[in-house]
Amino acid sequence: MEKAKPTYDELVSENTELRYQLEEANDTIEAIRTGQVDALIVQGETGNQLYTLKTADQTYRTFIEKMNEGAVTLNHEGIILYSNASFANMVNAPLQKVIGVKFDTFILKEARDEFYKLIKNGWEKECKEEILLAGNKRYTPCLMSCNTLELDEGTALSLILTDLTIQKEAEHQLKINNEKLIVAQNATEKLNDELEDTVKSRTADLLLSREHFKLLANNIPQMTWTNLADGTVNFHNQQWFNYSGLTYQDTQEPDWRHKIIHPDDYQFTLQKFTAAIKSGTIYEVENRYRRYDGTYRWHLNRAVPLRNDKGEIAFWVGTATDIEDQKQEMDRKDEFIGVASHELKTPLTSLKGYLQLISYKKGELSPAVKQYIDKAILALNKLQILVNELLDVSKINAGRLEYSMEEINLTALMRSCIENARHVFPNFEFMEDVEGEFIVNGNSERLEQVFMNLINNAVKYSPASRTVIVRASQNGNNVRVYVTDYGIGLSDKQQERIFERFYRVEDKKYMSSGLGMGLYISKEIITHHNGKIGVQSELGQGSTFYFDLPLVKN
Ligand code: ADP
Repeated sequence: MEKAKPTYDELVSENTELRYQLEEANDTIEAIRTGQVDALIVQGETGNQLYTLKTADQTYRTFIEKMNEGAVTLNHEGIILYSNASFANMVNAPLQKVIGVKFDTFILKEARDEFYKLIKNGWEKECKEEILLAGNKRYTPCLMSCNTLELDEGTALSLILTDLTIQKEAEHQLKINNEKLIVAQNATEKLNDELEDTVKSRTADLLLSREHFKLLANNIPQMTWTNLADGTVNFHNQQWFNYSGLTYQDTQEPDWRHKIIHPDDYQFTLQKFTAAIKSGTIYEVENRYRRYDGTYRWHLNRAVPLRNDKGEIAFWVGTATDIEDQKQEMDRKDEFIGVASHELKTPLTSLKGYLQLISYKKGELSPAVKQYIDKAILALNKLQILVNELLDVSKINAGRLEYSMEEINLTALMRSCIENARHVFPNFEFMEDVEGEFIVNGNSERLEQVFMNLINNAVKYSPASRTVIVRASQNGNNVRVYVTDYGIGLSDKQQERIFERFYRVEDKKYMSSGLGMGLYISKEIITHHNGKIGVQSELGQGSTFYFDLPLVKN
């Protein structure tokens, strides 16, 4: 049966009713929005539905509205019943476009299945999970916690969403930093490994070189040792222990050197050693070391400093070479020279006497023979000087060069020597500069020997110049005698050695007769007179030899 058409009055009344309902609905919505009523009407699939919150009150609403976290309630269909401003902000949409919308609108399609599972889970029990909100041109990583809420109309799901953007960024930054840290750590580890390898190989090298050193040191015939920069001994080789019979413990005692150095050599050995340590120059000394069986043998000691990059002394390397056999050989030679020169002296003197006797008979001799005799006398003089020098050297070595001392006038002695030199070397000019009378305590024959040796040398080593200057002047309590020539001169190195026994400069160009004994004897004589002998010279320019003698006080 067809329904009867409504009458006009019915339509007017229905219209009035609908308007009334509409006004009521508007008022309700306004009341809910402003928080006067805790309820919400949502257009669902089954028509309008009204929701009211059982526990809602004004305080909580304000609190939820103001909080930073997004707060949302969903119904079973996943429609947003309520959203605070923070959530709207998270999805970058106005509040009106959020409420009543399905929540999954803000989830990326590909993540929705996961999300549904999560929500389903949330309806069953409290849970927390990270999700990514995809709003209008904004993605917000969030921590979503789900909780069910009892509304008058049934249960709703409350979601609290904490924005993790800053945290994620921090995490990201942390991750980057961590990665950098790992890279740096790896680099450090690599470096460390390399360093360890270097240290290992250096240590191995060091060990090897130390072993080399030990092997070398223990297999050479000499005794060797090393000292620290301050002189403390820190190593002796096996030979040293074998020879001395001492133990390592013995060398740790403060006066261990007394146990090995001959008492007569102890003082000067230590003096030289201390001086070398102080000055950092090579240490060289001859002394006697006590062997394990109590016998002493002569040794030549040498120690050289080894310096580091900065030039500081790192340590000293010392060696002691046994020179006992050479010493004894030398002693035997000296003894032979002594005996031979002594034996030669007498026949030479008589030879000279006979030659002089012949030369007195000049009238009976032909000029040629006379000339031969003069030459023979000259050669004999040289020979006599040599033999005398040899005898002197052997006496010096035996400690038997003895002579008497008396007050002598050095000025007169010098003048007579100069006269003699002018006579012997007529081609030379001897300039004399002797100020005053110098009285000294000495042996005139020996001092004459020294002075004449200096003059002879000045002449001998001046192949181009013809001038020799002789001077004497007071020098404090001493008189200083100078003999200057303009001859071949001496280098610094040569000057250091010319007073040694048998030392001669190896220069074939200027080689002249002599055995390198004159200056050695002169030094002995001057030292015996409490004086000092020395030289100042420059190669190619000439030399000045001088000696000082103490003046006799009036
Ligand atoms: P020699 O008999 O060889 O002259 P000396 O002991 O008197 O022995 O001198 C030693 C060395 O010193 C000489 O061989 C020479 O090389 C050097 N010498 C000595 N005097 C001079 C000098 N006036 N000028 C240069 N060299 C000199």
